[in-house]
Amino acid sequence: MSSHLKPKLLRRFYEVLILLRVLGQVQGERIRAPDLEDGSLDRLDLKQMRRLVMYHLCVMCDYEKGGATVTAMAAQNHPSGPQYWIAVNGSLSKIRKFLVETLASLQARAGETLSSPSQTTTSFEQTLFTKFAEIQRARTKTYWDFMQKHVKTELKRAEAYPTRRAKNLGYAAWLEPLQSSRHRIDPHGLCELAYQVRRSSYLRVDYDPVSGGSVFTENEARSSLRHLVGRLCAVKRAARILTYACASHPQLFEGANVLALKCPAATPAPSAYPGLTSSGISNRVFPSSSSTELQDFQAVLQRLEDQGMRLIDGVRDYYASKDWRPKVHAELTLLEALHAHQGNFFDNDKYIACSKPACFCCYHYICAHPGGFARPDCHNKVYHSWQPPALPSTTSSKLKDEQSRVMNSLVQQVRQAVVEKVSNIRRYAKWHADSTTGLTAFTVESVAGSEVGDHCGDEEEVFSGASDLVEDGPTQADVTSDGSEESEDGGVSLL
Ligand SMILES: [Zn+2]
Repeated sequence: MSSHLKPKLLRRFYEVLILLRVLGQVQGERIRAPDLEDGSLDRLDLKQMRRLVMYHLCVMCDYEKGGATVTAMAAQNHPSGPQYWIAVNGSLSKIRKFLVETLASLQARAGETLSSPSQTTTSFEQTLFTKFAEIQRARTKTYWDFMQKHVKTELKRAEAYPTRRAKNLGYAAWLEPLQSSRHRIDPHGLCELAYQVRRSSYLRVDYDPVSGGSVFTENEARSSLRHLVGRLCAVKRAARILTYACASHPQLFEGANVLALKCPAATPAPSAYPGLTSSGISNRVFPSSSSTELQDFQAVLQRLEDQGMRLIDGVRDYYASKDWRPKVHAELTLLEALHAHQGNFFDNDKYIACSKPACFCCYHYICAHPGGFARPDCHNKVYHSWQPPALPSTTSSKLKDEQSRVMNSLVQQVRQAVVEKVSNIRRYAKWHADSTTGLTAFTVESVAGSEVGDHCGDEEEVFSGASDLVEDGPTQADVTSDGSEESEDGGVSLL
């Protein structure tokens, strides 16, 4: 399957996408879809519960960090029951087997629910929890390993605090089990422990357990600790939600069937424009403009070059990287296949769940697509290894034209983001006109291998401290994203 998109369009797209990546990976705050924010399971209607079930199934399927197991899912109607379509960034076999087995368990349980007493619920939830903890073993270990340095940092901070209050010492004792090596080989135990401590006051955003006072500036160690405890809770949370859904909405599982789509293999990287220059890029960013906008834009690019920012060299480095292999993300493989398939979506809800929020390009691709798919969550980061889905050669010219229009719209979105970034740099440069450290404090990060193998991103990257040209790094919304899921407003808690 090769792309029918014109090489000229793809070359323009990749040039401006790479420029945007060099200017900074994060394009704004995380965008959250509203349906998953409700904290109460018993208030969810069928559509919301189906979306929630699909999301948590995707999260459990995504068993390793790095992007290869990112899983997308959509539900269509079939006379025998719901038909769950999935696509995976990488290899399908293990995920398909896990999903088929899990849905079979849920289907069997859904049948029993109508006549069985509720005392079996706990053991069923435990069975699911054990199954999920097993497939999530590698990811759980990774989260646990990440957590260790933050636990150590907090322990040191507690020890160094001038007055060791009782609360301070209590915090140190609370941190102790989170660094114990005895949990390393037991993913089940790690997830259980995280679930037990998830609501501790020591994790509160507005409270510092070391000083015993309010927090005015959140430190990275506590933010990361809170985030990772939240990630470790995902296994228990999924088991609980799916067990609940079995009883409340058995129709989501009765007669369920799985259809899997393979994402196309990564393709060779596109080539750059010959003689790549800042004026050449500027002219292509503003193809029909001779206004002062173009001149201002070009002047900022040139000034950054003069100040040693390696902006154009940074773009060239991306093009030259041997590891650059553009890849279609799972949610778009599913979207184009289902758009061509024209099947009936459950409740006409054209929703594609995914184990990770959409990246910047997937989000704008979905938003611009004429298929009318629901807008997903978006982490708003750009990946230069992103690729538009290739349509089968038998695709009608109507669908091919539609995709060309979607890609033209995406090029405009990326250009607009580039212009905004450059505009922000210009404002910052004026503010620090006399500073010797101002702009040069921001360096274009090294590009070599920075995204290799991470086609859809992992949320932990928000804590990587990558230094982009513009200060648009992690936001409080990112850091506390798990907190919103922990909110409980009566009823049956989502967590
Ligand atoms: Zn994506």
